[in-house]
Amino acid sequence: MGQILTIHTIGNPLLRRKAAKVGDPQDPKLAVLVDNMLTTMLASDGVGIAAPQISQLLRVVIVASRPNPRYPDAPQMEPVIMVNPIILSRSSGQEEGLEGCLSVPGKKCLIMRHQAVEVCWHDLEAKRHQQSFSGFVARIVQHEVDHLEGILYPDRAGSSG
Ligand SMILES: [Zn+2]
Repeated sequence: MGQILTIHTIGNPLLRRKAAKVGDPQDPKLAVLVDNMLTTMLASDGVGIAAPQISQLLRVVIVASRPNPRYPDAPQMEPVIMVNPIILSRSSGQEEGLEGCLSVPGKKCLIMRHQAVEVCWHDLEAKRHQQSFSGFVARIVQHEVDHLEGILYPDRAGSSG
């Protein structure tokens, strides 16, 4: 298992920077980073995490929906490690849902997201994947990819958020 690292919180300028593309998904240093991301995410009851949240400005996210105290109704899935994820298409349909973030501790807000997205990415063996996700998992994908652009969910909240 990896290490539990400090998760940066809103106000930290690092979270506002654009993350760089990973050159070699098979770099052993990347496997260590992913291990640490997974451990840190699980320790905080997260359902996703992006590398910039733990100081690495690289395009790496983990999408890992599962029921936990923060999201009791979340669907169960195996964690998906996405290196250089790109959202290829978004459904025209959008829906509002409660969203939180490990970098915005103790808060949740209703956020509008596309109901489904199609995304491509590379895994740690540099194999390319392409898949569609819908509902809560699509929400996580959109949230985590936002982190790579320096966007935090409160930016997408209405005036009341
Ligand atoms: Zn987040």
